[in-house]
Amino acid sequence: VDVPIELDNGTVAHFEGYRVQHNVSRGPGKGGVRYHPDVTLEEVMALSAWMTIKNAAVNIPYGGAKGGIRVDPKKLSPNELEKLTRRYTSEIGVIIGPTKDIPAPDVNTNGQIMAWMMDTYSANQGATVTGVVTGKPIELGGSLGRVKATGRGVFLTTREAARNMGLALDGARVIVQGFGNVGGVAAELLAQAGAKVVAIQDHTGSVKNDKGLDVPALQAHARKTGGVKGFAEAEAIGDEDFWGLPCDILVPAALEGQVDDKRAERVKARLVVEGANGPVTKAGDKVFADRGITLVPDVIANSGGVIVSYFEWVQDFSSFFWTETEINERLVRIMKEAFTSVWDVAQQHKVTLRTAAYIVACTRILQARDLRGLYP
Ligand code: NAD
Repeated sequence: VDVPIELDNGTVAHFEGYRVQHNVSRGPGKGGVRYHPDVTLEEVMALSAWMTIKNAAVNIPYGGAKGGIRVDPKKLSPNELEKLTRRYTSEIGVIIGPTKDIPAPDVNTNGQIMAWMMDTYSANQGATVTGVVTGKPIELGGSLGRVKATGRGVFLTTREAARNMGLALDGARVIVQGFGNVGGVAAELLAQAGAKVVAIQDHTGSVKNDKGLDVPALQAHARKTGGVKGFAEAEAIGDEDFWGLPCDILVPAALEGQVDDKRAERVKARLVVEGANGPVTKAGDKVFADRGITLVPDVIANSGGVIVSYFEWVQDFSSFFWTETEINERLVRIMKEAFTSVWDVAQQHKVTLRTAAYIVACTRILQARDLRGLYP
C-alpha cells in the first residue's frame, strides 16, 4: 500500500507499506508490523511464513501474517509517526480484523503504535474493536504478562530441554547474548532457578563472572548506562572470546545470523536455546547437529510472546481479564505441551528439534487444509 502523509514542514511524503497473509488454514493471520528502512515485500513474505510455522508449532489457532513499512521511524516526529500509522492502518483496514488478521508490535513498533492502530480501525468500523491488534497498553485491553512473556518462554523451554537431557538447571553455567526484553528476562529467570549466568554480551560489550553474575544488579547498571559494559562486579572480555567460554547452556537472544559455523565450532555448551529469531545460521545449525549439541529452535523457544498475544486476543473477545498468575500458568501449560510434542517427534524420527518443529507445524497446517477441503 502507498502511505502518504503530510510532514510537519508541510510537504507530502510517500512510504511503501505491506501486509502479507501467508497461510490462514488454521485461523486468522497473526504477526507483527515492523518499521525499518530495509523492509521489502520479500522480507515481509518470509517473516509471514515464519509466523505460520511458529503459530502451528505451538498449536495456537492462527495462521501466519506480517506487515511493515519501509521507513526510518527515528527520522519522524511523534506527530508524523502517528499519521503514518493511522494511514497505513486505514489502507490495510480491509484485510485486517479480529477474525481475519491481527497485527502486533515488531521491530520499532510498540504499544502506543498498537493503540493508534486500534483507534483508527475502530473509527473506520464505527465501533471499538480492541481485538484487532495485540501488544496494546493494559489500559486499552492489553494483557498482563506480555512484556516478559518471550523471555519467560525462553526460560521455560530451557528448563524442559535441560530436564529431558538430564542437565540440572541448578548450578548450570549459562551464557546469554542480548540483554534486552528477551535475553534480560531469560537471564533473570534462569538465575532465579539456580543457574549461574556466567557471561552476557550486548551491543556495548561482553562481561563475565565465573561465580555467576548478579543479574538484577547488571540490569540496573544496563538501565543506567545503556549496556553491560563497565559493570563493576564482572570482568570485561573480548566479544569473540564470549563464544568459546566454558558453559552448559548458550542463549543467543540478540540478533539473527550471530552463530555461523566458525562460532558454532567453538561453543562449549550442551544446549543452545534460540531466544532471537534465526540467531544460528544454516551452517552453524549443521555444526551443532554434527557435534550432538541440542538446539531448541526459535519457533518454539521464543513463542512466549505470541502465546500471550493469543491470550490478549481471547481476553478482548470476552472483555474479561485474567490475573498475571493465570496468564503465566496458561503459558507454562501451552509451552510444555508444545515442547513435548516436538521433543517426541524428534526422538521418534531421529531428527533435530528444528526439523521436528517443522514436521509438527506442517502436519497441523496440512491437516487443517485437508479438513477444510476445497470450496466450491
Ligand atoms: P531488545 O531491543 O530489547 O534487545 C536486544 C538486545 O540485543 C540488546 O541487549 C542489545 O544490546 C543486544 N544487541 C544488539 N546488537 C548486538 C550485537 N551486535 N551484539 C550483541 N548484542 C547486541 O530486543 P528483544 O525484544 O530482546 O529481541 C531480541 C531478539 O528476539 C530479536 O531477534 C527479536 O526479533 C526476537 N524476538 C523478540 C520477541 C519479543 O517479544 N520481544 C519475540 C520473538 C522474538
